[in-house]
Amino acid sequence: MRGIILIAPPAAGKGTQSSLLCKKYKFVHVSTGDLLREAAAKDTEEGLYIREKMNSGELVDNSLTIKLLENKLKRSKASGFILDGFPRDIDQAKSLDKIMEEINISRLYVFYIDVDFDVVKKRYTGRVACPSCGEVYNKFIDELKPKMPGICDKCECKLITRSDDNEKTFNKRYEVYAEKTAPLVKFYNREKMLYRIDGNLSAKEINKQIVDILEVQND
Ligand code: AMP
Repeated sequence: MRGIILIAPPAAGKGTQSSLLCKKYKFVHVSTGDLLREAAAKDTEEGLYIREKMNSGELVDNSLTIKLLENKLKRSKASGFILDGFPRDIDQAKSLDKIMEEINISRLYVFYIDVDFDVVKKRYTGRVACPSCGEVYNKFIDELKPKMPGICDKCECKLITRSDDNEKTFNKRYEVYAEKTAPLVKFYNREKMLYRIDGNLSAKEINKQIVDILEVQND
């Protein structure tokens, strides 16, 4: 089994790249953000706690996030997976090492999508999504605008802004990223598993850089 990790600041396009790679390689896309959003939708103490953390841009408790991830990975029968949004700190990276041993992942590719602050801010604050099919658009980026403003191209539902997609949450999330997640670049670089990708380019060009590396490294 093979695994791919995407390390990137908020709104660098991790979700988009994961979808493109899953289509090409038939991997399963595992997003801890999505797993947590699902758990947050429940009217329980845990759901409420997760909602508060996500809306403020802070990280959710590691043991809870790791439990959700482990369940998902152990149930999966795919030949590989793409982790979107995990690990987010060094402790999570160490937990992932253990999970990988348990589920028999022989090869891990780590892509660091390097994007300028101003570029991710524009992507983040312009993001709108379809509540029905999950398709994501951007109000400020021409190639990602829906055909009709505010309406999903696929299912014609009214697009919404995620409750954590505002400027205040972005600033907090970027701060958390710089403090906790960015050190993973050094962590994986030391183990010579990291590939740096220029994330200031279009989604298509970012995808090409990743695919080119995977094709060469295919083992
Ligand atoms: P994302 O969908 O990856 O942009 O994540 C949205 C929010 O979910 C983050 O701001 C965190 O609050 C939470 N989250 C997602 N992944 C993790 C993780 N690996 N560890 C802790 N919190 C996470």
